[in-house]
Amino acid sequence: MNEIFAVYGVSGCGRSLMPIAREQLKSLYNNSQVIFIDDALQHNTIVNRSIAMNYNAFKKLAYARKRVLIAIASSSIREKIADKLEKDGILLWQVQATSTVIMDEVMISEGAALSPFVTIGANVTIGKCFHANLYSYVEHDCIIGNYVTFAPRVSCNGNIHIHDHVYVGAGAVIKQGTLDKPLIIGTGAIIGMGAVVTKDVPAGAVVVGNPARLLLKS
Ligand code: UDP
Repeated sequence: MNEIFAVYGVSGCGRSLMPIAREQLKSLYNNSQVIFIDDALQHNTIVNRSIAMNYNAFKKLAYARKRVLIAIASSSIREKIADKLEKDGILLWQVQATSTVIMDEVMISEGAALSPFVTIGANVTIGKCFHANLYSYVEHDCIIGNYVTFAPRVSCNGNIHIHDHVYVGAGAVIKQGTLDKPLIIGTGAIIGMGAVVTKDVPAGAVVVGNPARLLLKS
C-alpha cells in the first residue's frame, strides 16, 4: 500500500507513543512503516529504531497517502501543526493502545492519542487531537473540546464539559457533574498536578490543590 504513517515529535510524548503506533500498524497493515517527524532535525536520522526527519523532508516523500499523529503535549503547537497538515492535504492519525477501553456511543474526532490503560466511558464526545496519557479516564456523558491534554492518571468523572485547549495535570481528579448541571472547565484552563476540582473552572484560570483553588485568572 502506498501509504506512510508518522509520529510528529521526538521528545517525551512522541517517543512514548511510537511503540503504540508501531503496534497499531502491525495489526492493521503488514509492512507499512511509521517514522518520526521533528522540525529540530537538520538531517534524517534514527530515533529509537525509527527513521526521523523534519517536516520538509516528510512532505517530499512520494506516498499517495500520509497520516500523522501529532505527539506534542503543547496544545497550541498541536493546533498549529494540525492546520499545516490540513493545508498540505495530510491526514491526522488516531493512535490508541490495545489496552484502551472505549465504551458505547463514543465519538472521537481525528488525531487522538490514547495511551495504555486509558478508558473512555459511554456517551462521551471528544474533539480534535485529544491526548489522554497513561491510566487516564473520561467517564460517561462528558464532552471534551479540541486540543485538550490529559497528563497521566487524570480522573475525569461523569457529566463534565471540558472546553478547548485545557491542560489537566497528572493525577488530577475532577468531580462529576449532573446531566442538568455539568461541571465546566473553561477554555485554556490549566489544572495542576494532583488537584481535586470540585466546581467549575473559569476560562484561562490556573487551579491547584485540594480542593482546587484559583492560582491565576486570565
Ligand atoms: N516540535 C516540532 N515542530 C514544532 C514544534 C515542536 O517538531 O513546530 C518538536 C520539538 O522539536 C520537540 C517536540 O516537538 O522535539 C516537543 O517536545 P517537548 O519537549 O515540548 O515535549 P513533549 O511535547 O514531547 O512533552
